[in-house]
Amino acid sequence: MAEVTDAKQEGRKVTAQEVNIIAAKEIANLVRSTLGPMGMDKMLVGNDGSITVTNDGATILREVNITHPTARMIIQVAKAQEAECYDGTTSSVIFAGELMKQTEELLGKGIHPTMIVRGFKQAAKKALEHLSTLAYETEDTLREVALTAMTGKSAEDDGDHLANLCVEAATRSKPTDVNIVVRPGAPVSESFFADGCIVDKSKMTHAMPDTVVGAKIALFDCELSVAELGQGVNMSFNDPALAQQYIAERKNALNDLAESIIQAGANVVLCLKDIDPVIAEVFTRAGVYASRRVAASDLESVAIATNAAIVSNPEDLEPADLGSCESVEEKKFDLSPRPLLFFHGVPNDEVSSIMVFAPTEHLAFEIGRALDDAVGVVHIAHKDNAVVAGGGSAYMSMSLVVKDFAASVGGRAQLAVEAYAEALEVIPATLAENCGLSPIDSLLKLRVAHANGNIHAYIDAFEGEISEKTDVVEPMRVVRTAVQGATDTACMILRIDNIVTAKEPDEFGV
Ligand code: ADP
Ligand code: MG
Repeated sequence: MAEVTDAKQEGRKVTAQEVNIIAAKEIANLVRSTLGPMGMDKMLVGNDGSITVTNDGATILREVNITHPTARMIIQVAKAQEAECYDGTTSSVIFAGELMKQTEELLGKGIHPTMIVRGFKQAAKKALEHLSTLAYETEDTLREVALTAMTGKSAEDDGDHLANLCVEAATRSKPTDVNIVVRPGAPVSESFFADGCIVDKSKMTHAMPDTVVGAKIALFDCELSVAELGQGVNMSFNDPALAQQYIAERKNALNDLAESIIQAGANVVLCLKDIDPVIAEVFTRAGVYASRRVAASDLESVAIATNAAIVSNPEDLEPADLGSCESVEEKKFDLSPRPLLFFHGVPNDEVSSIMVFAPTEHLAFEIGRALDDAVGVVHIAHKDNAVVAGGGSAYMSMSLVVKDFAASVGGRAQLAVEAYAEALEVIPATLAENCGLSPIDSLLKLRVAHANGNIHAYIDAFEGEISEKTDVVEPMRVVRTAVQGATDTACMILRIDNIVTAKEPDEFGV
């Protein structure tokens, strides 16, 4: 028999709905303390002992090992939010958890889940209609959008500098075309933006050129070598001359392969795997730049930027497979021991790069993640040309409108609409709490400010006051997606009354 979780089933103490509510609340609690500029970080320890220190909701939820199916549905909200908007993941999960908490009380009052779903849907529609009216145009606020997305992350100290890099990259390239290269060992202020591509690799032999002008680039995702006999194959020669001949023929084949690549026109070669030293030597003599063990993602970026095809069979390389750019340059830095490879003047000029330096590795990666989000958010703001005030402002404004709307709903659904309005307040309340403010007082003050017509008033986390400046802004799409995603998932979970777990096949006697 399958396992069933439901109160109506004998021997069960909690219903599936109760279990689901607990699961949703637990997930929300897990990330609650990270929300906002004063949010705390989590240290994630992997199975292999690796450590990640992060404030990013999506990263936390991606790494934790959660098996409960409902909890996984809540985590999906964060994943969808990240995929679509790059930011707002923590908010979406906290809001979903809060909706489930409100549900608990409504169910306690004997309201049918379907009625709650109906109320929530009506409320969400109203809230999102209102959200559109709150939005304003962006062009001058892109830096603020980047800063808002980065506050609370470790990127904040050099926020101004990094925000400029984000705006430069996001207004020029799609987030997927921004190549963020992370390297520890230098101050964050050294980080820079560059056109084209940067690859964190250096040349294979010292004598290869540092700069290749008029670059023709060949990319390989296979080993550059001549096929060897498989492991465990023994060869026995009964004449030393045959052994010599075998070695010489292999060397010739390697030479031919290298020559054929040069003949095709390549003067820069990047390889995902190893390059045979014989081939490297031929390249060196011919003044070809070559680098091996280049990351797959870097190979992809170069392919996109330079219009190159990634080739898997070196003998098949054709001139049409080669990418091109004005120059390829390996540059050294005073503060960082290893050089970097730059691709200047690439044909696909939508590709750009941000080089992130930071004193330590953990910091470098956390800043890299923060920039990844910030570039995405700035791009969305730039594209949609619609931002709303952050710091809980939009949520409070929607809450007030939904509360007004509740009166006109009537019937039992009204209670659900009211509960929805209350749930929207969880974002400003949590922000206030995480800043060490009293959530009750802050909500009261914020409500008053909004009621007085200051529709962009928000909780300034640093001053601890209600503010009306326009420094804290986020793209409207971030808020819209969070609200919509959390509502849809809460409604879906609400409709579940049984959790039926399939047993292993052998337990069915199969
Ligand atoms: P999320 O994963 O939801 O993006 P964050 O930890 O990034 O979570 O926090 C985002 C929230 O912090 C947003 O609601 C944003 O408006 C708010 N916020 C950012 N900067 C400030 C600030 N200076 N003052 C108040 N709130 C801020
Ligand atoms: Mg954020």
